[in-house]
Amino acid sequence: MARAWISLVFLLPGCGDSSGRPTVTDGVTTATAGTANTSESGDDPSATSAGETTSTGDSESSSDTSTTTTSDPTATGPGTTDCQPLTCAELTAECGEFDDTCGNTLNCGDCAEPQLCTAGQCAAPFADTERQQLNYLVVAHPDDEISGWSLIEKSPGNYAVFIHMTRGDATGFCAPFGGYQPDVGEAPPGNTDDYQGQACAELRIGSALAFYAGAAEIDGFLGPIGEVGYTLNFDDLPEGTPGFDCPVSSTEARIYPGKNAAIIFFDMGDGDLTQCETEWAISQTRRLPQMGWLPQLPEYSLIATGYYNMVEGINCRVYAHPDHRVIHEALWETDFGTPGPQWGRTCREDPDAKPGGTPFARVEVTEDYDQIMELGPGDFYRIGPAQVYYGWLMPDYWELGEDDTDEISFNKTQAFWGVH
Ligand SMILES: [Zn+2]
Repeated sequence: MARAWISLVFLLPGCGDSSGRPTVTDGVTTATAGTANTSESGDDPSATSAGETTSTGDSESSSDTSTTTTSDPTATGPGTTDCQPLTCAELTAECGEFDDTCGNTLNCGDCAEPQLCTAGQCAAPFADTERQQLNYLVVAHPDDEISGWSLIEKSPGNYAVFIHMTRGDATGFCAPFGGYQPDVGEAPPGNTDDYQGQACAELRIGSALAFYAGAAEIDGFLGPIGEVGYTLNFDDLPEGTPGFDCPVSSTEARIYPGKNAAIIFFDMGDGDLTQCETEWAISQTRRLPQMGWLPQLPEYSLIATGYYNMVEGINCRVYAHPDHRVIHEALWETDFGTPGPQWGRTCREDPDAKPGGTPFARVEVTEDYDQIMELGPGDFYRIGPAQVYYGWLMPDYWELGEDDTDEISFNKTQAFWGVH
């Protein structure tokens, strides 16, 4: 992924301007065309203290051509200059590029990813997050986050970490549909001849990033989100909390750490996700705060957002996508020990979620549903970000539903089972 570069060059008054740098030859100060003859009145290299800048203004009239620092062999003689370039220490700069006041660029280095350089200082994008705790959300495929949205939206306390286990690369819907509506700014599909595999994965990641950005505009607590991405290889990361030890399809993940939420895309293979891969990815994600890739906030909750229900004969959609099932089984069978809820999205008539059925049952309603799923006049124009950016996964649009007894994928009422 492209890195974000923020390099500020401070133009300070210098002892030589960039168009004609003074040079000293055999004790005689000369200047290239276009500049006045100048030399320094104070030639001691130690005379420039931290934070002090030199200026041409007070040296214009100097005719001192002698050298005064003969004790320092590097300070005089051919090829050297009287100009004392600024140092990064003097600028208290940890990063970035600056004018060294002697006509050269002072490079104070790069920040360790994912820190960004602003005004010479390195800071993680979440350094000034307004959230207080981490809410991990396990997502099978890009779009499944919507079906757990009631536990995500309008949260002033939670720093949401969306852990996408796969990139949705096996979908049969990566082929462009005729209903694509570029006039309303719709994102993918692109015109590609390769609808499967990596090309499809990139389309789905692009859709997800656009969706999150659109949802953040509605939500108000989520963004800015998905702006800068990095590729992480967990084989390269130093050992931290022991992970679940099992073979995984890929140790690589793409991460977009934002101010108030982060998005991670693992690449475990759409359609053949395993329970151990899920546990491994959750475990690796939980190492990231200590490694500087996520804010060091206390953990709170762990939620399987993707819908899953295998109970037949109730007023609920039966949906048993193997990847959704794997994630639900992983969270059902393993207590990851988060102090807050460890829940999975099901339907309200699932015996494990029915209100009163267990102490953990919850039925929530997405406040932002109407806006996120909004359709335009005639039910064709896709307006809400879920429709605009994920609508291409359907022939026309995502159907709307108030209650999860409406047997559709993304409805307004969302129920959860809970381990705790
Ligand atoms: Zn899914």
